[in-house]
Amino acid sequence: MAILDGVMNESGRVVIVGGGILGTMHAVLARRHGYAVTQLEREPAGRGASVRNFGLVWVSGRRAGPELALALRARALWEEIAATAPGTGFRAAGSLTIATSEAELAVMREAAALPDAKQRDFDLLTAEEARSVNPALRGEFLGGLYCRADAIVEPRVTLPALRAALAGPSYAWRPGLEAVEVAPNGVRDQQGTWHRGDLVVLCTGANFTGLAGPHLTASGALAPGRAPNGSEPGAEPAGLRRVRLQMLQTLPFAGKLTTALADGDSLRYYPAYDVPTRSALPPQTAVAAASRAQLLLVQRLDGSLTIGDTHEYDEPFGFDVDETAYDHLLARACALLGASLPRVQRRWAGVYSEVVGTTALYHRSEVAPGVVLVTGPGGRGMTCSPAIAEETFL
Ligand SMILES: Cc1cc2nc3c(=O)[nH]c(=O)nc-3n(C[C@H](O)[C@H](O)[C@H](O)COP(=O)(O)OP(=O)(O)OC[C@H]3O[C@@H](n4cnc5c(N)ncnc54)[C@H](O)[C@@H]3O)c2cc1C
Repeated sequence: MAILDGVMNESGRVVIVGGGILGTMHAVLARRHGYAVTQLEREPAGRGASVRNFGLVWVSGRRAGPELALALRARALWEEIAATAPGTGFRAAGSLTIATSEAELAVMREAAALPDAKQRDFDLLTAEEARSVNPALRGEFLGGLYCRADAIVEPRVTLPALRAALAGPSYAWRPGLEAVEVAPNGVRDQQGTWHRGDLVVLCTGANFTGLAGPHLTASGALAPGRAPNGSEPGAEPAGLRRVRLQMLQTLPFAGKLTTALADGDSLRYYPAYDVPTRSALPPQTAVAAASRAQLLLVQRLDGSLTIGDTHEYDEPFGFDVDETAYDHLLARACALLGASLPRVQRRWAGVYSEVVGTTALYHRSEVAPGVVLVTGPGGRGMTCSPAIAEETFL
C-alpha cells in the first residue's frame, strides 16, 4: 500500500498496540511462536483494567462448554508462563464461595453435582470444613463451594513481571507511543513513525474511540461485516459494551487468607450457577441490587485485601465512586471474616469492554489486512488472556 511505501518489511515481527494483559499475553505468545515483538502503549505503563482488577484467574464461575474450556486452557497457560515470570505472584490458591442461606447452599449443591464440576475441582464444604481450608473465615455461614482450579496473580505487578521475562533483543517495549492510524500490516504512532509487522494486534481495551472507533458504531455495536469471533456466519453483528466497577484495597490484614473468597451474591452473576435452584434465590438486598454488587475478596501478597465489586452499565459513567456500595461490600467482608477490617488505603474504579448478544467469548475482527482488533473479554479478561492470545497464533 502507498501509505507504507518506504517502510522496511520486517518478516517475523508482530506489532502489538496496548500494554494491558491482552497485549502483553499476545507479546508472550508471539515470542513463543518465534516472532520478534514491538509493543506500543500510549501511557508510561498499562493503567487500564489489567492493573485495576482482582487478579483472579477465575475458573469457578465460567459457563459450561467453550467458556470453561477457554478458562481452563488459560489457567494451564498462566501456570506455565508464571513459572518463567515469578513476579506475577501466581498462586494456585483456589477459592471459596460462601453460602449464608439454604437457598445459596442449594445452588452450590447443584453446581457441585454437574458433570463439569470435576474440571473445576469443585467440592461442597460444610462451614467447619470451609474453616479448616481457610481459617480466616470466622464469621457465621452455612457452607462453601471450594474451587481448587481458581488461582490468583498480582495485577499491579503482573505486567512489568511479564515484560521483564520478555526482555531481550527480540522484544521492544515502547511506552508513550499512541497508535493513531492503521494501514495494512502497520500502525503509525503520534510521532509519525510507522510500525510494521507480519501481524498487527490491536489490544486497546475499553477505548471505543480513537484507533478502534472507526471499526465500531457510535453505540459500541460492531460495524456491519465485522463478525465477532465464534459467531455464526451471517449472524446479527454482536455488540460491545463497557462496564464500570468499583474496588478498594485495605491496609494489611492480620490474618492469612488461604483462598480467594466470594459471597452468595456471586451465584447470581456467574453463568456456572445458572442451575434450576438459582431461580429460588431471594432478591439481593436493595443496596446490593442497586450497584449490582457481589463480594469478591483477595488477599494480596503484602497482606492487604482487595475488595469489590459493583457493575455499572449505563453511560455516561459516574466520575466519582459511590460510598454506599463500599459500605455494603465492607460489611459483607467483615461478616464473613468475623473480624473488623484494616483501614481502606485505596479506592478506584475500572472499566472493561464486554461482548454482548453473542455466544462469542471475546471480539476479534480484521480491521485491515494483517491487522486484528482483539477486545471484549469482559470480566474474564485477566483469566482468559493467555488462551485468547494463543488463539491469535493458531
Ligand atoms: C475492576 C475490575 C476487576 C476485574 N477483575 C477481574 C478478575 O479478577 N479476573 C479476570 O479475569 N478479569 C477481571 N477483570 C477484567 C479484566 O481486567 C479485563 O478484561 C482485562 O484487563 C482487559 O485487558 P486489556 O488488555 O484488553 O485492556 P486494558 O488493561 O484496559 O489495556 C488496554 C491498553 O491499551 C492502551 N491503549 C489504548 N489505545 C491505545 C493506542 N491507540 N495506542 C497505544 N496504546 C493504547 C491503553 O492505554 C491500555 O493500557 C476486571 C476488570 C475490572 C475493571
